[in-house]
Amino acid sequence: MLHHIKKNKKDIEDRRNYIMPVYGSRDLEDPIPKYSLPENSIDPRHAYALVKDELMLDGNSRLNLATFVTTWMEDEARQLMADTFDKNMIDKDEYPQTAELEDRCVHILSDLYNVPDENGACGCSTTGSSEAAMLCGMALKWKWRERMKEKGKSTDKPNMIISSSVQVCWEKFCRYWEVEPRLIPVSDGRYSMKTEDVIAACDENTIGIVAILGTTHTGEFEPVKEYNDALEKFNAETGFDIPLHVDAASGGFIAPFIAPDLEWDFRLKWVKSINVSGHKFGLVYPGVGWAIWRNAVELPEDLIFRVNYLGGEMPTFALNFSRPGNQVVAQYYNFIRLGREGYTRVMQACMDTAKFIKGSLEETGVFESLLPELKMPLITFRIRRDIETGFDVFGVSEMLRHRGWLIPAYTMPENCEDDAVLRIVVKEGMSMDLAHLLMEDFRRIIEKFSKKPERIQSTKRTMKQC
Ligand SMILES: *Cc1c(COP(=O)(O)O)cnc(C)c1O
Repeated sequence: MLHHIKKNKKDIEDRRNYIMPVYGSRDLEDPIPKYSLPENSIDPRHAYALVKDELMLDGNSRLNLATFVTTWMEDEARQLMADTFDKNMIDKDEYPQTAELEDRCVHILSDLYNVPDENGACGCSTTGSSEAAMLCGMALKWKWRERMKEKGKSTDKPNMIISSSVQVCWEKFCRYWEVEPRLIPVSDGRYSMKTEDVIAACDENTIGIVAILGTTHTGEFEPVKEYNDALEKFNAETGFDIPLHVDAASGGFIAPFIAPDLEWDFRLKWVKSINVSGHKFGLVYPGVGWAIWRNAVELPEDLIFRVNYLGGEMPTFALNFSRPGNQVVAQYYNFIRLGREGYTRVMQACMDTAKFIKGSLEETGVFESLLPELKMPLITFRIRRDIETGFDVFGVSEMLRHRGWLIPAYTMPENCEDDAVLRIVVKEGMSMDLAHLLMEDFRRIIEKFSKKPERIQSTKRTMKQC
């Protein structure tokens, strides 16, 4: 947590602020302060038991259908990660083979995203898509500044075109790096940016447009090709060189496998960089993302630091210095373990389960999906507007939690904020069997709280059209 209110002495002495274990061990007879460093050491087994016990109160990650982030990996992958916890990713001279695996992953992803043959691979691992977004965003800003300086123009007012349904990392990028965010509102049951709105918001101070492959709210794929084709025309007319960046945090490991013909990546001329989360559908436990550029030209030299204090001369482009290397190792493991066939199978299974859940939810007569057709294994749904029920989505979320399911309820972004929805992300590890159990719980809730969902006259509702 970011802010701790410093406990005063009286608080610290309050019995509630001590862990007072009842295990029958002398070692644990003395209370251990929670908020100040204990005077004495204890046995590692006891420390383990104490910490582990407290964590029992966390939700069960396997039932966490809120997150996009991996909650299940094979035993071999866990073992490999445990074997390599001690590798620091930055020590590339000391751990050249870990560095080599990172390099291979960058090549694999560049190939997957169709980097033009003559370009070669250019990219790096990060702690997640958020860090990758900062790096790619900086590259866009630096390149724009170069272009403006060449033309002898002011570089005071950079802006970036993003959807109002964008993930918070882009708003962070804009605030931290002083770029004006031009938020394009979503509307009309279409939760992605309209091409004409995107182009209308562009001017010569636009450092880039962020297209989302798999929006956070509904899992839609924004029409990257449409943006690209419109940009081609707009850039030709204006003489600007506005590029596209694709935030493929989740879709970057889905589209290549279940929609290989969809053109969203470097096959499109104006797509200059892509970020993807290794720890989402890349199927690695939390802590790894990737930033990939179309070619080295898109990555300005002065963003890259070369340090020699670890031996060798290592170019780095990152916000962190030290970082675990084992997640990159696990990413490479997944690549060789699954291959294209394996990833396709996993993604298809997730899609099948998601479609089953969507169909079953709609069959209840109570819920409706926001999207008629799923692009990703993610279902965003609401209570039908034409029926009266004894509950709302927040209540449903709460009741599911009693059974251990973690399924968030939230309101849609600006323009659609009257729409309250629930979201289920189906990941590897969410079996069809678990999906059946989940649906039983949904049906139990419906039965308990609304004996008969009755149709109501839809005249008096003033819900906005989205
Ligand atoms: C999850 C997500 C992010 C942030 O990714 P992290 O890997 O969690 O930092 C950014 N954009 C989109 C579209 C996402 O789904």
